[in-house]
Amino acid sequence: MMSEPRRLLSLISPFYNEEHGVCAFLERVDALYQTLADRYDFEVIAINDGSRDRTYEELLKAQATHSYVTVVDLSRNFGKEAALSAGLDFANGDAVVPIDSDLQHPPEVVLELVAKWEEGAEVVLAKRVDRRTDHAVQKFTANGFYKLHNSISDIHIPADVGDFRLMDRKVVDALKQLPENRRFMKGLFAWVGFRTATIEYHVAPRSTGKTSFNTWKLWNFAIEGITSYSSAPLRIWTYLGGAVSAMALLYAVYLLIKTLCFGVDTPGYASLMITILFASGVQLIGIGVLGEYVGRIFVESKRRPVYIVREVIKPHR
Ligand code: UDP
Ligand code: MG
Repeated sequence: MMSEPRRLLSLISPFYNEEHGVCAFLERVDALYQTLADRYDFEVIAINDGSRDRTYEELLKAQATHSYVTVVDLSRNFGKEAALSAGLDFANGDAVVPIDSDLQHPPEVVLELVAKWEEGAEVVLAKRVDRRTDHAVQKFTANGFYKLHNSISDIHIPADVGDFRLMDRKVVDALKQLPENRRFMKGLFAWVGFRTATIEYHVAPRSTGKTSFNTWKLWNFAIEGITSYSSAPLRIWTYLGGAVSAMALLYAVYLLIKTLCFGVDTPGYASLMITILFASGVQLIGIGVLGEYVGRIFVESKRRPVYIVREVIKPHR
């Protein structure tokens, strides 16, 4: 029988202060490796995103027993999006799977992703079927975000799909060509397109430690997502300005006629005050939105690298 060259599967996994999770994660990944080893070569790119605990030491220790782990040590905490970009750059796989290191993305699900890939999909999305681990407010805001984002952006981000997915080499190469510095990964993933399949999975609770995304961070993340892919917030001001001007014109006509027919009555403080306050408030919001975009242009224009690597530690096979 002619044997095809073995294909390589890469997992890319960002670690930020996960010292107690490293062992548990790699144990589960090892089980996955055992099931795939007869068909695939396997590598795990572990990105240490400037952890302030012993994550780095734990990862190096784990390399001794897990011969497929490459550690990419970033020079400081660059955030999950940058860590994933680093992972994409260092992964060599024919298929690449970003996966959280806190075991919220069960490694066994990768088998299903691979199965769909073998059937010909270039992107296989893992969609979370329930947000059991989120509380009501999170669910509500997440839904709101997807609705708002998808209604005003050129790209469609599928709801309840995170970074957990499988990407063919073609897709990874396309992603690596995108030059932007601020990387809202979900959006970039959606932007490149390709033939896509979806599977479903249940999000697990975190293995240890706690999430590093609080409400304020998530809020800013949502704004980032929207302003990265849509200029609708800018365009709104054209319409709003038009509407306010039209109302002002009508009111002016009304005032003119009233004054001509009935003469001047001095009281008018309240209406004057309300108009001034309303109009200046609207202007300030408009400037704020403008500032948001100018800020993004400013950051992008510096052309800084997305992340900086201190060291890449290859496994000693
Ligand atoms: N993470 C990272 N850099 C950061 C924050 C998080 O690499 O600045 C990693 C973290 O180690 C985990 C994944 O990103 O593997 C998801 O983070 P977390 O569990 O805190 O977020 P959540 O699952 O609550 O969205
Ligand atoms: Mg998590």
